[in-house]
Amino acid sequence: MQRCLLPCIACFVLLLMLSTASLARDDRVRERQSMVSEQIVARGVRDTATLAAMRAVPRHRFVPLAQSLFAYDDRPLPIGYGQTISQPFIVAYMTEIIEPGPGKKILEIGTGSGYQAAILAATGAVVYSIEIIPELAESSAKALEETGYGEVHTKTADGYHGWPEHAPYDAIIVTAASEFIPPPLIAQLKDAGLMVIPVGSPFFVQTLMLVQKRGDQTTSANLMPVRFVPFRRAE
Ligand code: SAH
Repeated sequence: MQRCLLPCIACFVLLLMLSTASLARDDRVRERQSMVSEQIVARGVRDTATLAAMRAVPRHRFVPLAQSLFAYDDRPLPIGYGQTISQPFIVAYMTEIIEPGPGKKILEIGTGSGYQAAILAATGAVVYSIEIIPELAESSAKALEETGYGEVHTKTADGYHGWPEHAPYDAIIVTAASEFIPPPLIAQLKDAGLMVIPVGSPFFVQTLMLVQKRGDQTTSANLMPVRFVPFRRAE
């Protein structure tokens, strides 16, 4: 009797360990697959590097625990301090438009949760990201480290001034709405570099703009109406 029981218990423990390991590995992969096909591909995003990054980065690890259940919903979510993580489609759209990838150097203004920075890093780009709220800068750096994107360079500062030490950038992505395009950011773009930025009043619908630098000139195109949290200035 005992000879039969022991192998049975061993088998049970082994099965339990295997299923726990596969659950941990699963890491909500299926929810991400659905998010990408139903919210992102369905709305026209086609860039393979962007789609691969959106499938790979565990969005639920970048939202507060209380929001984890809703991490793959088709909407922005609160991340504390009056700030939000953007809707998955907007993250994908802004990523596709600045063409990130290996060999590209990208500056993000508004690290927030760290999710957009992780998506950019997942395409192979070198990412610099600035956050003005110290508590968010700290929690996003931790989330980036814990999810394997610790190579993202972060700092706490007013992103209006950019990060001149590492300029020029192939692309700049601003994730807070500014009344105008900060001149230091244009100065830190490479020639032919791209910037995506929501422009407009924090109290109304803003316009997502694509800015391209060409020598001393910049050209811009209006992409779509959006709603972002306001671009703040350090006192
Ligand atoms: N990209 C973020 C979105 C966060 S919301 C994400 O993936 O979660 C926008 C963020 O911009 C907020 O965290 C806000 O604090 C930050 N922000 C606003 N003005 C800023 C400024 N001047 N410099 C740096 N960060 C700023």
